[in-house]
Amino acid sequence: MTDIIQLLPDHVANQIAAGEVVQRPASVVKELLENAIDAEATEVKLIVKDAGKTLVQVIDNGKGMSVTDARLSFERHATSKIKSAEDLFQLHTKGFRGEALASIAAIAHVELKTKRPEDELGTAIEIEGSQVKSQDVSVTPVGTSVAVKNLFFNIPARRNFLKSDTVELRHITDEFHRVALAHPNIAFVFYHNGAELFHLPQEKYRQRVVHIFGNKTNEKLVPVEEDTEVLKISGFVGKPEYSKKTRSEQFFFVNQRFIKSPYLNHAISAAFEGLLKTGYHPSYFLNLTVNPKTIDINIHPTKTEIKFDDEHTLYAILRSAVKHSLGQFNIAPVLDFEHQSSLNTPYSYKDKVGKAPTIEVDRSFNPFADDTDTAQSSSSGHTHFKKAPAANWEGLYVGLESKENNSNTDFSSVTFESDSKTASVFGDSAVETHKTTFQLQHKYIVSTLKSGMLIVDQNRAHQRVLYENFLKHVTIKEATSQQLLFPLQLEFTPDECKIIEELKANLEHTGFAFSEGSENTITITGVPVGVPESEVSSILEQLISDVKQDVPDANFSAADLLAKSMAKSLAIKNGQALNHTEQEHLVNSLFACKEPNMSPTNKPTFVTMSVDDIENKFN
Ligand code: ADP
Ligand code: MG
Repeated sequence: MTDIIQLLPDHVANQIAAGEVVQRPASVVKELLENAIDAEATEVKLIVKDAGKTLVQVIDNGKGMSVTDARLSFERHATSKIKSAEDLFQLHTKGFRGEALASIAAIAHVELKTKRPEDELGTAIEIEGSQVKSQDVSVTPVGTSVAVKNLFFNIPARRNFLKSDTVELRHITDEFHRVALAHPNIAFVFYHNGAELFHLPQEKYRQRVVHIFGNKTNEKLVPVEEDTEVLKISGFVGKPEYSKKTRSEQFFFVNQRFIKSPYLNHAISAAFEGLLKTGYHPSYFLNLTVNPKTIDINIHPTKTEIKFDDEHTLYAILRSAVKHSLGQFNIAPVLDFEHQSSLNTPYSYKDKVGKAPTIEVDRSFNPFADDTDTAQSSSSGHTHFKKAPAANWEGLYVGLESKENNSNTDFSSVTFESDSKTASVFGDSAVETHKTTFQLQHKYIVSTLKSGMLIVDQNRAHQRVLYENFLKHVTIKEATSQQLLFPLQLEFTPDECKIIEELKANLEHTGFAFSEGSENTITITGVPVGVPESEVSSILEQLISDVKQDVPDANFSAADLLAKSMAKSLAIKNGQALNHTEQEHLVNSLFACKEPNMSPTNKPTFVTMSVDDIENKFN
């Protein structure tokens, strides 16, 4: 038998390895830009043609290469950046594998020109598919220029696999953003097909972010700064109202290297809790500096993942730093009386300023009162539904019910009854004019939508309504107070008194009024309009327990917490019957909210069921 195993020729082996490093033109852009930065360039020019399919060229003014180094740089595992395995634990460069140039040269036409400051003449090398075509002395400026032409010329399958120019250019732009954001102290220009896409001078980080993402970005940035022994954070998060449906403005840099970290991303989301609509993502541009010994970037060939020694600590520091900044610049500034009130509004409440505050729900409602509507609905739901204007959901309900009741009658009579009712379900105009609601198990409010059915959780919905209301009052400090005839004296432990003392200013903004109390008692002389006296002590208790549980220092985002606690204690509970007007009012108030989709604690406030969903259930 003859042997069948043979060594792959170099150029084949290189092509295979290249696949790991070079997946698309954007990979070339990344590698070349990073080499320029490692070479300590201060000015970097990126020139791209046809989304990189024809040309990717990077020109830098860095330290250049000697003649020998220039030739060696194309050898696999040839690097000047690490000398031993230990160096991997204290990396200060982007590159370290010595693979990029070798990989790129294996699958493209590459022209290198380079010159060190100390040399009079530079070197020019041409390589095609790992074959050196020429090497000459060259008159060239200090620094390095690498031009990569006809990517994947020798791997047609890979070339055909490339996406449209638009898509490939977007990938390139993403890489450019990442590198440019990580290095505001380096000037960059970026040309595509002769047009200048970016021109970034050496600048401060804030200017760099604004230069890349547009002038409007400036007003949405909230600075984040933190300096601890294990982690230094600097950069910006976007104000909550500028959050995006996409994650396109989320950037973490660890020691100036762009990384993706779902775990740290979660820390940011946690810091934004209660401030974002569901499905929206916060923007952030954050630079983390850690001791290189505590990270391992060697775990992924494309190097956007990273392993930290002590993730939990980083998480906690990051979350609290971001929360702190949001508090300072968005919500808590109500504590800082020097601030302009326009900076304080957490949502876009600006347009609402000046509106007289009202508490939206009829708290005097009593299920046992002699109200025919409710009396009927609590004793027998059916009577109530039949009495209501015949329409959509109830129509369906009656239809179903009659099916049950008349299970012995022939099919045609059932269809007849449902038919007349269902006509209104599918007639859109009828749905819009006779919008109606119905309470299920004293817990959910069911209503119709053009496209199906809406089920609202009454407690969560009301929490959202109250939360936004209170938050608005705390923020604009315009709540009206209702004077109590006899001041209310409540006993608390010294600890609890201190918590209330700290929240006093915020409580007053919602409409509470206090007078000097003696030791261990709080004396309340006024309450927010619409808050029954009987609820006051439970509100304060709820608040104290929330502060104790959630927040290490009570100053932090106190307004938000207060609004949450008050909403929690005052919201309509499950099990409480609501009359028709109340149901509709609640649903309408919910959808008048900034963020109707979720409760202040980020739980869904409603679900919908489309006609399609319903039809599927019948299949
Ligand atoms: P790595 O960056 O991992 O070391 P590369 O294949 O990207 O591997 O580069 C190989 C070597 O070539 C580098 O270690 C560096 O010494 C040299 N080199 C590459 N690009 C440049 C450049 N723009 N300026 C100076 N030296 C460079
Ligand atoms: Mg490199």
